[in-house]
Amino acid sequence: MSLELQILGSNSAAFAHRRHHTSQLFRIQNQLFLIDCGEGTQLLLKKHQIKISKIDHILISHLHGDHYFGLIGLLSTMHLFGRQKDLTLVAPPGLAEIITLQLKHSQTWLSYNIDFVEWTPDQVELVFENALVTIHTIPMDHGVPCSGFLFKEKEKRRRIHREVFKELNLTPLEISKLKNGEDILNTDGAIRYENQELTLDPHPRYSYAYCSDTRFKPSITEQIKDVNLLYHESTFADDMEERAHTTFHSTAKEAATVAKEANADKLILGHFSARYRELDVILDEARTVFPETELAIEGTKFQVP
Ligand SMILES: [Zn+2]
Ligand SMILES: [Zn+2]
Repeated sequence: MSLELQILGSNSAAFAHRRHHTSQLFRIQNQLFLIDCGEGTQLLLKKHQIKISKIDHILISHLHGDHYFGLIGLLSTMHLFGRQKDLTLVAPPGLAEIITLQLKHSQTWLSYNIDFVEWTPDQVELVFENALVTIHTIPMDHGVPCSGFLFKEKEKRRRIHREVFKELNLTPLEISKLKNGEDILNTDGAIRYENQELTLDPHPRYSYAYCSDTRFKPSITEQIKDVNLLYHESTFADDMEERAHTTFHSTAKEAATVAKEANADKLILGHFSARYRELDVILDEARTVFPETELAIEGTKFQVP
């Protein structure tokens, strides 16, 4: 299955050095999940030629402006374009009230329905599930209710040996049974083909963890153990460790420690402070702890795994 993460915006509080507020697009086959929607997200979507009509799911990590001030604009544009499809909005407590109030006072009645899914702070919750994926919240430590999101592919079915298709004349029902791990039986109940002989183990399930604004929180590694792709905020470099702690943010080394403890395949760093024009120091410090680290450079696409 094709899973891909595209970075839209990667800066923290202030727009600086051509870096924008936080926003990402996670693609599973042809389904698009917009994760956070800072100011300017619409322009970034346009810049990267992503059709907003294809976005059916938006997830918001918390109510600091750099993560959602672009949302009302995007929702309004969807309305102006005549959207009819439902939109799922996975949201912190309070966001539904804010959006409803903004629409009320502009006397806007959306052409589509927003299905608000409000998550509970400080709890791991299943907030979305379809045939392809589950999404659970990852409670962050940020001074205000804040949540990351863990995307996990659904359990996959067994794979049938290629030769089996050629040599055996199986019906679609029999093939389906094999994929479900069942044996093929004769009418008298005797085993005609054993599942193990004809099938291979399923492909591994892939996962992506989005860890939004947070103070260093090593306890999350348990939930995201063996994650394939991990995004973790790294607002500061090591020299600002104290400031990171008091402002509920993380340093690059702390993010890398989470990646190492979680046994992640790859780490992506983002949410950079405007104080860093160049990001080499952030990347270098993280790589001393976890070599498989990259920066969330805007526009970059990362494949999972
Ligand atoms: Zn932020
Ligand atoms: Zn924040």
